[in-house]
Amino acid sequence: MVVKASNPRKKTFCACCPKWEIKRPEQCSNTKTYKAKKYYFCTKKCKDRFEKSPEKFMAMESAWP
Ligand SMILES: [Zn+2]
Repeated sequence: MVVKASNPRKKTFCACCPKWEIKRPEQCSNTKTYKAKKYYFCTKKCKDRFEKSPEKFMAMESAWP
């Protein structure tokens, strides 16, 4: 997984909702490890969406600033 050095994003966001910050990722129960990377979700619904088509979210994430 390529990590952009210029990316200052330290906060954790829901993989489905880029604007939804996961305040306490360590307490988040909706997580999914995909291709050696851990993803967090605000709700189980988001997790289900991710599991249905993770590739879609891979593409979306790489498009983030
Ligand atoms: Zn979400």
